[in-house]
Amino acid sequence: MQVCPKCNIKIRGDKRCCPLCQGNITGEPEDNAFKVLPARKVNTVTLFRICVFLFIIYEVVMGTIYQFSGYRFRWALFAIIWGIVGIIDIRVALYLRGNIIKLITFETFFGIIITYIIDRMTGGYAFSVTWVNPIAFVLLPVVTVIIGVSAKLRIVDYAVYLLVDVLASMSQIIPIVSGFNRFTYPAVLSMGIMVVFAAFVLIFRRRDLINATSKYLNI
Ligand SMILES: [Zn+2]
Repeated sequence: MQVCPKCNIKIRGDKRCCPLCQGNITGEPEDNAFKVLPARKVNTVTLFRICVFLFIIYEVVMGTIYQFSGYRFRWALFAIIWGIVGIIDIRVALYLRGNIIKLITFETFFGIIITYIIDRMTGGYAFSVTWVNPIAFVLLPVVTVIIGVSAKLRIVDYAVYLLVDVLASMSQIIPIVSGFNRFTYPAVLSMGIMVVFAAFVLIFRRRDLINATSKYLNI
């Protein structure tokens, strides 16, 4: 019998991860509880192998162009770096594909960091902290709730993501204090909306939030 230490449930058959939390499971696998269907022709492992193969060709081509240009084509160097970022993102996205809210949360935070780096590398016009981040931080909980409601999830199942969104959005204070963000209205408005949203959840959905947090922290 396999068990999930996080969800504290027993799992029949031979599973690779917990069907509830997608986390690691312990214990001895048994014969499958249900008939196992033959694997699809192109599974995600094959897909990722194809991606890695194309990635290596791409990196070799870009590396060659960069070397042949006498290290003058800066775009080829950037192409090499973004190729590495891309392959890491594909790997994580495949890993998180079973949990759409976790995937979208990860991609949004990943995008925010990447946009910030691009901003810094291309002259520091602060478009990331001025416009991209304020909009992304407000859209993320909206999309999370829309997915949660349409997938008929209980609030307990996604409240932690909302909490993380609210806390992460407060990071927008840093570029304001440091002076990098010189047009501060969108960021301040964004944080204000998130505070009101957090207040709503804390006051009217307190019970759900406590349940979600204790479930997540395995208390
Ligand atoms: Zn679990």
